[in-house]
Amino acid sequence: MKTTTLPRSPRVGLVSLGCPKALVDSERIMTKLRSDGYDMSPDYAGADVVLVNTCGFLDSAKEESLEAIGEAIAENGRVVVTGCMGREAEVIRERFPQVLAVTGPQQYEAVVAAVHDAAPPVPNAYLDLVPEAGLKLTPRHYSYLKISEGCNHRCAFCIIPSIRGDLASRRPDAILREAEKLVAAGTRELLVISQDTSAYGLDLKHAAWPWKGGEVRAHMTDLVRELGKLGTADHPVWVRLHYVYPYPHVDRVIPLMAEGLLLPYLDIPFQHASPNVLKAMKRPANEAKVLQRLKDWRAIVPDIAVRSSFVVGFPGETDADFDYLLDWLQEAQLDRVGAFKFEPVEGAEATYMPNQVPDEVKQDRFERVMALSARISAEKLAAKVGSTLDVLIDAVDPDTGGASGRSKADAPEIDGEVHLRDAGGLQPGDIVRVEIEDADEHDLYGVPV
Ligand code: SF4
Repeated sequence: MKTTTLPRSPRVGLVSLGCPKALVDSERIMTKLRSDGYDMSPDYAGADVVLVNTCGFLDSAKEESLEAIGEAIAENGRVVVTGCMGREAEVIRERFPQVLAVTGPQQYEAVVAAVHDAAPPVPNAYLDLVPEAGLKLTPRHYSYLKISEGCNHRCAFCIIPSIRGDLASRRPDAILREAEKLVAAGTRELLVISQDTSAYGLDLKHAAWPWKGGEVRAHMTDLVRELGKLGTADHPVWVRLHYVYPYPHVDRVIPLMAEGLLLPYLDIPFQHASPNVLKAMKRPANEAKVLQRLKDWRAIVPDIAVRSSFVVGFPGETDADFDYLLDWLQEAQLDRVGAFKFEPVEGAEATYMPNQVPDEVKQDRFERVMALSARISAEKLAAKVGSTLDVLIDAVDPDTGGASGRSKADAPEIDGEVHLRDAGGLQPGDIVRVEIEDADEHDLYGVPV
């Protein structure tokens, strides 16, 4: 049997000089690089590129920064410089013409882009939380916010726990501080990601940390409530949850949607519906009465959009299991569905299971799931024609006067778009009211009102 071997992630070494603010900048850059699939290297020798975050406050600090750059070049050779001394790029380049790039303080996008150029990320469908297309630098108006690493589950097709380890949640106050900075820098949409968002804080025993004169617990609902308060009437901020497993406490975030603190959107990777397959997959929360809960959630938040992904052709999946999945999808009426054919990955338990499904059967099942989902999606989108929706603008085309963006039901890169005509004067990051005029299988078409 052919198995997929995973490529090695590029490694970044970091030398961080200067004040606590510079350290926070380093953390933010590293968080972004980690979510782009980079690993950290604790030494020069193991790094594919070394990032030196400099301080240029005093002459002595400048000299220390130059020495650090010199050491990184001598030890590794592939060096990107950022931070306060980046303002004096000519001084650095004169002394070290071989540095790969020099960027200034708070130029997060530029420094992350320089690292991408120096050691391109290796998209890895088995490990990345962000889809391959999303590995490009996200524009300023939306940002991924990673709340934890690793996972306590052991799904049979997944190698994440063996590579990234058990769940390790970030402190809620650190997440909120990062989110505040992102919002101050222009983010209008925070995309909360992790391997298992509903498990957030379990490893921290849901302890509380001081936050804004009160406290915030390391728990999904508390964190989301605080994230939802970061926006203002003039500068609304959308908060979108990804990778939520349907544990019972997920019911408690639904009222936050009704209150407008959280987008009416849930990305729940169900992966299958047949109890036999879910059991063989060792999926968490598979006993939940999901169809009933979808109905309950829709009763509270009628416009909630539910996205999910499914694996077809898992070892042992019978025709009856697959028919069960199709019936379930028909009843669940999910808004967005991604389907994947099971692929054996080296090291995953399912790779070595008996009753592997032949490729042509996988392909046939994949096409049938996609056809059904496209039909359901088209019907749901057609029902939106004539309504007025908030749309976050992603891109404008000055030549045609058109623009494209997303409604609250659309996450970037993975869901559909809203295409606008007569959208002159709009900028990426604007949120506008749009009258929907037309729809197809995945996208909406409309005009600003
Ligand atoms: S929940 Fe399962 S699929 Fe998701 S990261 Fe954990 S082990 Fe992998």
